[in-house]
Amino acid sequence: METFKYTRAESPAQAIELAGQSPTAQQGAQVRFVAGGTTLLDLMKLDVERPVQVVDINHLPLDRVEKLPDGGLKIGALVRNADLAHDPTVQSDYPVLSQALLSGASAQLRNMATTGGNLLQRTRCVYFRNTAFACNKREPGSGCSAIEGENRTLAILGTSEQCIATNPSDMNVALTALEATVHIQGAKGERDVAIHDFFLLPGSTPHQENVLEPGDLITHVTLPAPRPGTKSVYLKLRDRASYEFALSSAAVVVEVADGRIRRARVGLGGVGTKPWRSVEAEKALEGKSADPKVFREAAEAALKDAKPQSQNGFKVELAKRCLTHALTLATQNA
Ligand SMILES: Cc1cc2nc3c(=O)[nH]c(=O)nc-3n(C[C@H](O)[C@H](O)[C@H](O)COP(=O)(O)OP(=O)(O)OC[C@H]3O[C@@H](n4cnc5c(N)ncnc54)[C@H](O)[C@@H]3O)c2cc1C
Ligand code: SF4
Repeated sequence: METFKYTRAESPAQAIELAGQSPTAQQGAQVRFVAGGTTLLDLMKLDVERPVQVVDINHLPLDRVEKLPDGGLKIGALVRNADLAHDPTVQSDYPVLSQALLSGASAQLRNMATTGGNLLQRTRCVYFRNTAFACNKREPGSGCSAIEGENRTLAILGTSEQCIATNPSDMNVALTALEATVHIQGAKGERDVAIHDFFLLPGSTPHQENVLEPGDLITHVTLPAPRPGTKSVYLKLRDRASYEFALSSAAVVVEVADGRIRRARVGLGGVGTKPWRSVEAEKALEGKSADPKVFREAAEAALKDAKPQSQNGFKVELAKRCLTHALTLATQNA
């Protein structure tokens, strides 16, 4: 790890000003915020991230979970994953989020990891994390070692010829199904971005992963008020039962009345280059009866554009079964 300057930010304005000096907030950023450090420090040790300045934001007042007057929820960017998962309102009103968080990493990591840091965690593609290999995401224009290499765990939806890396977060998949909004404070003021628009597809610029600009600080995430009668479930399938990233996961938020699905929101993990919202599955579900045939049709619709690589063809059927089972679990007592 190269030497870097460390500054403890005493206010959001100071943090934003310092980070605003970096030419980019994407790969290659010269100034990085550190929250829990469980992504950033790993990548600095691997020489994948080389900031000249690290700004510690842990002392900023962004660590609260608060109910909003409209019935929604405000989650500070520094709320730890463990605290969020065990928050009573999250457990009762947004169980899909609690389940997703508790399925991730380990108890120790969840005690450190924050909401903002989890949103911005980087891919686990082995070539991204090893500077001996070509990787367009780490070094634009250098090539993609994964397309002809080890790609068993990588994406089948939203890929490009430049990058097929998976977004590894569990939390992000639940936030996608919950239609969360990301709140950002930056050099030009405050702005809100729907989670679906926050992440970018790799296209020809896989090093640009989200809409953040230099200086941008995520301050909080909000969730809309839970709709009456809604059930939600997060199901994660992986190589071992704990301490492992998803091969496939599904977050479903469904409203069933008189045996019919009135409204559905579907997020998929482990298969997309960004946390994947399947509008196709939602359309295939809404207005239909809550039965296994309809669930399978929704899963077929969700994966119809899948482009498997040499080693991850199994993910197509796995993702279909994962979504079908998540829908079964969510609707069984509805
Ligand atoms: C061994 C291991 C296993 C794991 N398993 C899983 C798993 O199964 N599922 C899963 O979902 N995750 C898993 N993770 C990833 C873990 O969830 C993330 O590392 C963690 O959520 C990142 O949060 P952090 O606060 O530590 O981020 P940091 O490392 O502090 O920051 C990450 C990035 O976000 C930026 N950042 C942080 N906060 C802000 C902010 N408020 N505004 C703007 N930028 C910000 C930082 O500058 C940095 O670039 C695993 C991690 C490890 C090390
Ligand atoms: S899949 Fe993306 S992250 Fe992995 S080697 Fe290719 S360009 Fe890099």
